[in-house]
Amino acid sequence: MHYTSSGPFDGKVTRFFTSLVLPVDRKRTGECMRCGACCKFLVTCPFLDYENDDQKKPRCKAYLIRPLQCRKYPRTKEEQIHQPCGYHFED
Ligand code: SF4
Repeated sequence: MHYTSSGPFDGKVTRFFTSLVLPVDRKRTGECMRCGACCKFLVTCPFLDYENDDQKKPRCKAYLIRPLQCRKYPRTKEEQIHQPCGYHFED
């Protein structure tokens, strides 16, 4: 797994603020494949947990109340830094 650099903090600060006011790009398709990469980027989220302690089965302990930056990731192709990811953007 790898990510592409997009600026200071790899865009994490930008994604936080844009998620508050901007919608998810309509060209986004696919679905989360629960790899957990965006939950561990720079800082591991304290709500990240694993089903039956299986590291291959990450889950969010706060899924129903997760913040917008998590709900909307990846909001746009430009803000998507993790690959592979279950979400894709049509050109
Ligand atoms: S990187 Fe993509 S597929 Fe992996 S957990 Fe985040 S949104 Fe889901």
